[in-house]
Amino acid sequence: MRIKNWDIFAFIAGYHLLLFALLPAFIGVFTWKAIVLCVITWAISGFSITAGYHRLFSHKTYKASPFYEWVALLSSSLAIQASALQWSNDHRIHHSHVDTDKDPYCIKKGFFYAHVGWLFTYKVPIDERLVSDLMNNPRVMFQHKYYGWVTLAVNLLVFGVGCLFMHPLASFVGGVLLRVFAIHHCTWFINSLAHVWGSRTYAKEQTAADNAIIALLTFGEGYHNFHHAIAHDYRNGIRWYHFDPSKWLIWTCSKLGLVKDLKWVSNIRLQQTLVNKDKEMILDHISREFDEKATEIRNKINELSELYHEKSQTLAKKLREMKVATAERRKQLEHDIKELKQELGELWKSWGDLTKFAAVQYSIAH
Ligand SMILES: [Zn+2]
Ligand SMILES: [Zn+2]
Repeated sequence: MRIKNWDIFAFIAGYHLLLFALLPAFIGVFTWKAIVLCVITWAISGFSITAGYHRLFSHKTYKASPFYEWVALLSSSLAIQASALQWSNDHRIHHSHVDTDKDPYCIKKGFFYAHVGWLFTYKVPIDERLVSDLMNNPRVMFQHKYYGWVTLAVNLLVFGVGCLFMHPLASFVGGVLLRVFAIHHCTWFINSLAHVWGSRTYAKEQTAADNAIIALLTFGEGYHNFHHAIAHDYRNGIRWYHFDPSKWLIWTCSKLGLVKDLKWVSNIRLQQTLVNKDKEMILDHISREFDEKATEIRNKINELSELYHEKSQTLAKKLREMKVATAERRKQLEHDIKELKQELGELWKSWGDLTKFAAVQYSIAH
């Protein structure tokens, strides 16, 4: 690995060394208040990266008021992860070129490279067409233009507030060094660990994986396979039991009127998308296989997917009709909808069995 970004390398290596060098002195002035400061600012910077940089600016999964955007832009500067514009530029490239040579943090170049190494070597100018929407946002452009100063100011603010309650060294280590260390590695885990460890339910062809343990460390970003499959959804964890506090935060802010137009896919639409993706991937994979088994799989894939789409379209039609139906008609519709959902559930299960069988038979990555 040839280092090209010496400034970034010096900063990252430098603060790691400084943190370890100052640890003995930190223990000498230790107070639990320093840990509290570290955890609070880690959470603020973490949420502003996941709900702000990632789900708002990079993927536009919801719309936010200018006040919310300012809060997100200022608090995310605590995390020292480049401006929202730069971050979103890299991240959009990651999504459109995942696992290829153009992927900024391609996991195929190794765990260390995807985790942090890419920061030392990856250097591409901002693609104005890719982030033109963000370039039209004056708040994003302000943060981008004055990123160094904004970062310095918010970090000094945390350090200063800490000094009111503890020894300056404790405030510096707990409120700045240790917190930056924690938020860096937590975010970096999404590019490294979340592309290695976990299950691949939604985008079987990708390295991105769903992992509840990573979600705990990354404010809900651990359901990375789902995220790569449906990146325009404001949620990463779609089940009620999935730990996705960034989703809960965005949802709560929508109830407070700070954000609106949350984008999400319904289960039926999600499954429809997945059926399409699976179908395309498997048919493409076995396009040169003409043995009996492949023909049987091909027929079943076509038959089941058509049935699935037919039923889900009927369901969508009945759900629409439900909104304007009379009380009497509603009873019948409710019954039909219940039945259709049950049938779709069974079809979804059969689809899972069939695609798993095809994947095993033809060694399709899943
Ligand atoms: Zn993303
Ligand atoms: Zn990813």
